[in-house]
Amino acid sequence: MLLAMKEGLLRYTELIDLKTVPGLDGIVYDAATKTLRLGALATHAAIERAPAVAQHLPLLAEVERTVANIRVKSAGTIGGNLCFAEPHADPGTLFVTCDASVRLEGTTGGRDVSIDDFFLGAYETSREPHEVMTEIRIPPVGPRTRGVYLKFGIHERPTLGVAALLTLDPDRDAVADARIAVGCVNPRPTRLREVEDRARGRTVAELLRTLAEVGAASAQAISPVSDLHGSADYKMEMTAVFVRRALRAVCGRFERPAA
Ligand SMILES: Cc1cc2nc3c(=O)[nH]c(=O)nc-3n(C[C@H](O)[C@H](O)[C@H](O)COP(=O)(O)OP(=O)(O)OC[C@H]3O[C@@H](n4cnc5c(N)ncnc54)[C@H](O)[C@@H]3O)c2cc1C
Repeated sequence: MLLAMKEGLLRYTELIDLKTVPGLDGIVYDAATKTLRLGALATHAAIERAPAVAQHLPLLAEVERTVANIRVKSAGTIGGNLCFAEPHADPGTLFVTCDASVRLEGTTGGRDVSIDDFFLGAYETSREPHEVMTEIRIPPVGPRTRGVYLKFGIHERPTLGVAALLTLDPDRDAVADARIAVGCVNPRPTRLREVEDRARGRTVAELLRTLAEVGAASAQAISPVSDLHGSADYKMEMTAVFVRRALRAVCGRFERPAA
């Protein structure tokens, strides 16, 4: 936000530093609800290192490892990242595949909003001006689920990010559930429903054989614009390439015991 202010894009007469508010930076696993709870003021660096994240959603630590640089990770918060809703960001793309929700507290009370309903567009969220984000809640990822986050960029911020979670059926044969999202190429992180539908029901071997067809369906969910990160055609092509790579990498993770 300070960078945007320095460019003259935002002007405020008063600013409140939420980072001095105590008690909003916890990172805990709530065993009663089986939910990973991230305080909105938790920094990227703290999330990357948190034992609760390592144990219950190690993929989030992998995502945080790729965010910005050490200086930014030590100051930037997960709440600030989501509330700014800058399209070229990472955690939100993973969160939409995890069906995460955010807690907003305002002058009229509190409410929970699914992350999918929270993001409206570039720099636009469903948060009301009087509301502050206090927490991000992530439901459990089951033992038959594996995930991957792949990112590509040529600038400070990412050009493209793909998160893919696959869940196998109890026989560990076919894909029972697929949750795949792309970030940066649309104004907000976007679930690739057509790709998910095509992946579901296939065995891992079939999926690996048909990656080109499955990945090509990503084009139906995105409508990128040409900008400094590349032309619209380039982003379409790169999305299909990274969806294919992400799915191949997730399939490889079923060989390993870690969730
Ligand atoms: C050089 C650079 C590189 C970066 N690279 C990446 C990257 O690779 N991937 C990535 O995902 N991100 C990246 N970022 C973003 C960064 O990681 C931070 O998440 C982001 O800048 C938010 O920082 P902040 O917590 O200081 O929020 P601020 O800048 O202080 O706030 C951002 C906005 O959110 C609002 N806000 C903040 N917290 C709350 C809250 N709890 N409730 C309601 N509103 C709130 C503020 O009012 C403001 O409008 C990068 C940033 C920089 C500067």
